[in-house]
Amino acid sequence: SREWHLLSRPVGWPKPEDFALVEAEIRQPGPGQVLVRNKYLSVDPYMRGRMSAAKSYVAPFELNKVMQGGAVGEVVASNAEGIAPGDHVLHFGGWREYATFDGKQAVKVDPEAAPLSTYLGVLGMTGLTAYAGLLRTASFKEGDSVFVSGAAGAVGSQVGQIAKLKGASRVIGSAGSDEKVKLLVEEYGFDAAFNYKNGSVGEQLREAAPDGVDVYFDNVGGDHLEAAIGSLNRDGRIAVCGMISVYNNTEPAPGPKNLARLIQTRGRIEGFLVGDHYDLQPQFFQEVGPWVRSGELKYRETVVEGVENTLEAFFGVLRGDNTGKMIVKL
Ligand code: NDP
Repeated sequence: SREWHLLSRPVGWPKPEDFALVEAEIRQPGPGQVLVRNKYLSVDPYMRGRMSAAKSYVAPFELNKVMQGGAVGEVVASNAEGIAPGDHVLHFGGWREYATFDGKQAVKVDPEAAPLSTYLGVLGMTGLTAYAGLLRTASFKEGDSVFVSGAAGAVGSQVGQIAKLKGASRVIGSAGSDEKVKLLVEEYGFDAAFNYKNGSVGEQLREAAPDGVDVYFDNVGGDHLEAAIGSLNRDGRIAVCGMISVYNNTEPAPGPKNLARLIQTRGRIEGFLVGDHYDLQPQFFQEVGPWVRSGELKYRETVVEGVENTLEAFFGVLRGDNTGKMIVKL
């Protein structure tokens, strides 16, 4: 079984030499354990943080050990109660072909109910992030105008569409290519979208949201956050989900220059972590599941094949190669 190890902690943009694909033995399950053959792996921006030694909300990846991440696979052997060979499970033993771990860490998923890859994306962690961040952290309500950055990505595309389905007055998105911008407007039903690489984010946002924004869902940080504060309406709310524009910085990024605008607007800015919001999962499945099944909520996946290409897929997420959730298919 092949698995990815972190060899050294990247400084700035990660390099291929920081990682190695290593051959490992397949371990038969001990008491209470399962052996799973992975079918889909998730690569996510937060993994960049785990490559650094700095303490964070998840422990750093250990050097010369298998890296972990979300995965869906088929159970090959099981000593865990309630889990049988042939079952499909969602778990955290990614970045490898086979994983052996405690059955309590596996969540059974139904391949008949939804394609397996969706348990990593639109019905998985990134989907719940969009749902919780918009509805709970940003206190979205009908009639709000919503701006979301990273809008063609896994989280962002779902934020914009959920806002639309729940009665937003206007939804604006930004993304890093003209093709992505077109997708946002023509397929996902955004009212306006712009390519942040085509000019000033602040100016493009003012044009796209002439009446300002009530909610900003931040996936990017930097210029985007400053622009959103500049366009924030009275009682506006900013949910800080991610700041991908600074993840590879070697120096701390400067903060927004216009924070004082939060006083005038009585604005609120609040970070959140999806891990704190799993109590919303049943409600999320109940509300979002039917939208996905009916096609009212659309999603894309960028699928890269082969465990040997997992690292390249991860680099692709940092570069913006993906539209929707980046998935590795084994
Ligand atoms: P995405 O599918 O959105 O992929 C990342 C995207 O970021 C890329 O496709 C790229 O798109 C964009 N990007 C890369 N560099 C920049 C840059 N310098 N400026 C602007 N955009 C950039 O990933 P996810 O949906 O999985 O995650 C989105 C955000 O949410 C991330 O910041 C992530 O860390 C965060 N997150 C936070 C969670 C939480 O609990 N708080 C949970 C899950 C995710 P483009 O072509 O548009 O540049």
